[in-house]
Amino acid sequence: MQVEYPKHKWTDKFLLLDMFEGLKTTFRELWKPKVTIRYPEERMEPSDRFRGMFRFSFDRCIACKLCAIACPIDIIYIDVHDETLEQPDGKKKKVKVLDRYDIDVKRCMFCSLCEEACPTKPKSIWLTTKTYELATYDRGDLYFNMQQLEYWDERPEYPGLPDEDAPPLAPGLVAANRQLSGGAK
Ligand code: SF4
Ligand code: SF4
Repeated sequence: MQVEYPKHKWTDKFLLLDMFEGLKTTFRELWKPKVTIRYPEERMEPSDRFRGMFRFSFDRCIACKLCAIACPIDIIYIDVHDETLEQPDGKKKKVKVLDRYDIDVKRCMFCSLCEEACPTKPKSIWLTTKTYELATYDRGDLYFNMQQLEYWDERPEYPGLPDEDAPPLAPGLVAANRQLSGGAK
C-alpha cells in the first residue's frame, strides 16, 4: 500500500508556520511547574499505591504457598516442612514451617498478584514499601532470600554525588577510600 503524505504549500515553507507551531508548545510548557528533581540530592516521595521493593514478614507467613502459585512467572521459591507442636492444653497441632522463601526480584514485573493472593491480615508479602533505590551493578544481588526480604532496609542508602565544592582528597586518602569500598586496589 502506498502512503500518501500531505503536500505542503510553498507558503508554509516561506512563512515557517510549522516552526512557530512548535515554538508555541515550547512557550506554553515554559511556564508550567517543573516535574523533574535533582536526584539523588532530592528524592521523590512515591504515592501510597506505588509498587516498589518487597517486604516479607516471617512471623505472619503461614507457608501456604498461595503467593508462589499466583505469580505468573514463577519467581517465588518456597520450601516448607511439617512440624507437630504441643499446645498449652496438651493437644498436638501440625504446622508448616518455612525453610526457604526466595524471590528472584530481577525478573519481577511488580504486578502485585503475590500480595493480592496472600491470605494473612496484615499481608505477609507486600510491595507498597515506597522503595525504589535497590539498583545494583551485580544481577546476583537481586536474588533475595527471606532474611534479605525482611531486613533489606538496613542496607546503606545511596549517598548521592560527591560535593563539588568540597576540597579534593589527598592521594593517600583516595586510595584508602577505594580499598574500604572494595574498589581498585
Ligand atoms: S509482583 Fe513479582 S513476584 Fe509478585 S506475582 Fe508479580 S511477578 Fe510474581
Ligand atoms: S507470603 Fe502469604 S501467600 Fe505467601 S506463603 Fe506466606 S502467607 Fe502464604
